[in-house]
Amino acid sequence: MGKRLTRGGVVSIALALILVLSACSGGNGNGKENSGSGTKETTGKANNAKSGDEKLVIGFSLDTLQEERWQRDRDLFIAAAEALGAKVEVQAANSDDAKQISQAENLISQGVDVLVVVPHNAEATAAIVEKAHAAGIKVLAYDRLIKNSDLDLYISFDNEKVGEMQAEAIVKLAPKGKFVYIGGSETDNNAHLFKKGAFNILQPLIDSGDIQVVFDQWTKDWNPANALTNMENALTANDNKVDAVVAANDGTAGGVIQALAAQGLSGKIPVSGQDAELAAAQRIVEGTQTMTVYKPIKDLAEKAAELAVKLANGEDVGADKSVNNGKIDVPSVLLDPVAVDKSNIDATVIADGFHSKEDVYKNVK
Ligand code: BGC
Repeated sequence: MGKRLTRGGVVSIALALILVLSACSGGNGNGKENSGSGTKETTGKANNAKSGDEKLVIGFSLDTLQEERWQRDRDLFIAAAEALGAKVEVQAANSDDAKQISQAENLISQGVDVLVVVPHNAEATAAIVEKAHAAGIKVLAYDRLIKNSDLDLYISFDNEKVGEMQAEAIVKLAPKGKFVYIGGSETDNNAHLFKKGAFNILQPLIDSGDIQVVFDQWTKDWNPANALTNMENALTANDNKVDAVVAANDGTAGGVIQALAAQGLSGKIPVSGQDAELAAAQRIVEGTQTMTVYKPIKDLAEKAAELAVKLANGEDVGADKSVNNGKIDVPSVLLDPVAVDKSNIDATVIADGFHSKEDVYKNVK
């Protein structure tokens, strides 16, 4: 405390700072600079092309790593980015909006070349886009849309189709009766798309009087424990007389099936899901869950890594679609989901190596 610096000390600290700063700036070292040809439209952080052995850095900000799928996303994304010569800095926010924003701010101030974000909250994370842009950094929304912002790119699956697949599979088994809808997290734009898709299928049957939706709730933070409570409430309110459940993903389906099991109803009522989580794949072959929606995460992660690098380099990403986020039409890439039940699980999830046959059928005698 209170230690005074000599003049010489100040000069050498200043010199050291200058050296560090010039090393960090990437300099105009050995050759590999932006030629200008082929690179389009760059913001403040203009020339991101890296010189020599300097790696491009991608900041990857995730809502959560609690679910099986996001760990897979993280690992595949890192592998794909590294194969392209980039480095990834990962942060996960545990479903906390303020934390996700401050983690992203840290990545921005560390000077990442591009930000890839899985938002917990579609609205709150608009602040991340704004802050990144102020620093000349582009933002790619991964799997979930960031709303009301000048987002640069969105890559996901056709999420409305996911919801349609869920309801189609359930309606096939329960064309009439009392339905429960267990939605996702209200702050996740995807949850709204899944619901929209499901109701595209359910609404005509509601209108004709064939089905009644007797319970319809979001699941806070997609937490299976909250889905369990919701399902318990749905059963209690209806004297256990429920004929079908459209659950928005495998995590919530797990909570639903636990509530059904406690009433001796598991396997007796169709239940949907999504993600092809191992536990869900096992429930499908055991007969307690009807279906899941398989989304080949490898394709998503690889495409996202490729496009993140292009964004960082100011190259054209060639997005063929656009999705309106309330402010702009965001250039988008949407991949195809696959509906999976007992009949095609071997030919899809297992054939793709997403899970091994041994793991999926582990509990089946
Ligand atoms: C994803 C789903 C996932 C859910 C909960 C959604 O945004 O699209 O695959 O199950 O979030 O994490």
